[in-house]
Amino acid sequence: MPPEGFVGLGPTLVDADAAHPAGIAILDVIAIQTEDGQHFGLRGNCCCSTLPWTAPPQQRRPNKVNVGDLIDKDRGESPAHAYLRLKNWSRTKKELQRWLRDLRTNHGDGLALIVRDTTDYGIPWELFWLGEDDDGDWLGSLVTLTRWVATCHDQEPSPGGAATASGEVVAYIAGGAMQADLAVMEDLGASVTTTLWELLEVLDEPGPPLSMVYTACHGTFRDKSIEFVLDDTVSVADLDSIGLKRLAAGGGLVFVNACHSGRLIYDDDYNDATQRGFADALLRAGAHGFIGALGRVGEGQARRYLRDLVERLRSRPLAPVAEAIRDIRRAYSVTTAPRSNDADAARALLPFFYTFMYAYYGRPYDATTLPVGKQ
Ligand SMILES: [Zn+2]
Repeated sequence: MPPEGFVGLGPTLVDADAAHPAGIAILDVIAIQTEDGQHFGLRGNCCCSTLPWTAPPQQRRPNKVNVGDLIDKDRGESPAHAYLRLKNWSRTKKELQRWLRDLRTNHGDGLALIVRDTTDYGIPWELFWLGEDDDGDWLGSLVTLTRWVATCHDQEPSPGGAATASGEVVAYIAGGAMQADLAVMEDLGASVTTTLWELLEVLDEPGPPLSMVYTACHGTFRDKSIEFVLDDTVSVADLDSIGLKRLAAGGGLVFVNACHSGRLIYDDDYNDATQRGFADALLRAGAHGFIGALGRVGEGQARRYLRDLVERLRSRPLAPVAEAIRDIRRAYSVTTAPRSNDADAARALLPFFYTFMYAYYGRPYDATTLPVGKQ
């Protein structure tokens, strides 16, 4: 925990020194208030190397690194600027850079990093640059990276466990361009509902085990749990107080392919030091893992991501979902910095950013076996 004199703003964390399997590293990110303003403290632990508690001035609260704000076709900035911003911000986190490089040396591709970020700073850890100026890559491409919410701490004392979800696919697809996802769902033999509330009813009725629950719809982000909604109808507050019996009994990967669906909030109305969001609510309801977006994803890129994910999960049915997500990021990673004034290079970065905007919450070794398709 933070040394005396610091006040942690987030929920209490479990002990990072507790035993966990070789090759799984845990990084705790904790908001603190000092005389020098708000910082994030870091502490990391792996079988082979420790990152001692660190909170230097370079870890002051960043004002502009949230990828959901940077990459937004109406309110964002040039993707080239966002790229340079995230890379240059990462490079000053010397202790973290050193620790992560050690872990890569010790574990190579076998490294699984679990990030437990209880701040509300919106740091996109998947887009943390690791390496030297011309020699490096983004953390989400180099490492099997999963996020962890307070919910999971209570329910899953052993993050190294592995389970495989297999069974049916159920889905809700909203209208418009998202209807293109129906072809993928048909190929998976999915049951598709006509409303999001109907999907939640299906998840609450007893039924066969699930491999995946898929939703494609619009998402509206607010930092109030009543106003943070999917499809204009289902809020975080709704999901926070719901039981989903079939999901609880049959696990399954939940993928909410909607803008902002992977973000977490602290609701000031409650002021109860509790991180909330769709990821938290659905993991608590029984999902094995949760995939959501950290910002606004372009329509075509969202359709493409679903196809990529299904293809990866099918090609290695027993491989961890988190590895499939890492491999998709690898395929779209860009490691050559654009020039800040190059508009063409900036546009070309969008598939990279949209791919890295998908975050995975859950345990690093859980797998999902999808039904065999028609093709
Ligand atoms: Zn280790």
